Order: sequence, then C-alpha cells, then structure tokens
Amino acid sequence: VRTPLIAGNWKMNLDHLQAVAFVQKLHWTLKEAGHENGSVEVAVFPPFTDIRTVQTLLDADKIPFSLGGQDLSTKDSGAYTGEISGAFLKKLDCGYVIIGHSERRDYHAETDDVVAAKVQAALRHGLVPVICVGETLEQREQSGPTAVSVAQLRAALEGISADADIVVAYEPVWAIGTGQVASPEQAQEVCVALRAVIADVLGDDAAARTRVLYGGSVKSGNIASFMREPDVDGALVGGASLVVDEFAAIIRYQK
Ligand code: 13P
Repeated sequence: VRTPLIAGNWKMNLDHLQAVAFVQKLHWTLKEAGHENGSVEVAVFPPFTDIRTVQTLLDADKIPFSLGGQDLSTKDSGAYTGEISGAFLKKLDCGYVIIGHSERRDYHAETDDVVAAKVQAALRHGLVPVICVGETLEQREQSGPTAVSVAQLRAALEGISADADIVVAYEPVWAIGTGQVASPEQAQEVCVALRAVIADVLGDDAAARTRVLYGGSVKSGNIASFMREPDVDGALVGGASLVVDEFAAIIRYQK
C-alpha cells in the first residue's frame, strides 16, 4: 500500500519569516479541521534559505510534515559557487529533494544527464529524489502523451539500484501554472506508463511501492478526481500550495 503524498512546491515564494507563519497556520488549520495525521503524507519544499527555519519549527512544535529541497548540486562539496550539497539538505532533516522540475530543465538548461547525476547525488546522501518528468504541448502533439515522460524517467533511473527509494512526479508542462489541468484519465495514462518503466528498470517490487504523483494546476476542486485514479498516488502542488486554506483542503481531499 502506498501512502498518498501531497507535496507543496513553493518555488521562489515565501521568505523564511513568511514560511514560519504559513507552516504554523497550515498546521492549525488541519488540527482544527480534525485532520488525522498519517492517512496522507504532507511535504513542503521551501526555498533553501527557509529550510533551517522551517526545520526548527517542525521540530519544536512536533508538526508532522516532511521537508525537502527544490534542487541540489550534482557535487558533494567544493568550489561550486552558489550550489547546495545534498549533504546540507540531509543535515537539515530534509527527506526529499525535487529533481528535474520543468522550470529547471527549461530556465537552467538541465539535461537528462544532469537530472540523472542529481538523482545519484540525492541517493548518495540518503535523500528521496522526487523525479519530475512531463511533456510540452508540442511534444504531446508530435509524439503522443507518454513518450517524453517515459524517456525522461528512463534516463533519470540509469544506474540506480532496485531498492532505491524514489518518488516520480508527472507534470505536463502545459498544465503547470496555466490553470489548464490534465484530465484524471490523462494523468492516469501517463502514470501507468511511468510505473511500467519503474517495473522494467527496477523491478516489480519497486513499481508496487513507488509513489507516482500528478502535478499541474492541482486545486482543492480537482484533487479528488486525480486521487481516484489507481496509479496516481498524490500530487505535487505549486500555486495552490501557497494558500493555507486551499492547500489544507487539498490535503483533506478524502473529506
Ligand atoms: P502549479 O500547481 O502552480 O500548476 O505548479 C505545479 C508545479 O510545477 C509543482 O511542481
């Protein structure tokens, strides 16, 4: 059984002071609604400069959210100005790190090789990589709904061991920040194809336990329809993860 994962990718939003207010409010909102912890794993991915502060808050107030970085370096340490090592994230109790988000692939020219090297770096430091894949509208029209994501995932899994703990996120580029959400059937179709890649590369056990998320214009009004799909195990949420009531409602999609 795969525990659903609802993950908030804050992108470049909320400074460390805003982060504290946000996390406290989210925790209280869930508490007041009588939310049962454990039925769903909640994870937040703040900017690097917030992580220490959020870690301290989660620890002090016993808030059961998981924490992750939005990126990491392929290297472990050294003369790489501006880079962040997976070792640093691990020291701050991060369990996860997002890798290969389309904004990194697009604005920072991250190739499949860079993504694969970052997956290796994450695993080296005991972090669970949240491997993002997804096609543009043009690619969907040219090569169909699954080809790009399947190829990106195959490249990202190159050389990793069968017992590696990973999360995969299908984020069609045309659905990110556009309000043009994929249909649940479209998400399911690609998530099935991605699970088949995991089965092929890492084996059936890995395919059965690995969570595959959907991301792209997820809101409180559409989350339940995605979660009804058998191969969608959660969501990677951008814009709606920055609004307390909205994100709380997404987390409480079963209610
Ligand atoms: P939106 O939810 O804002 O569409 O962003 C999705 C995303 O990119 C999450 O990583």
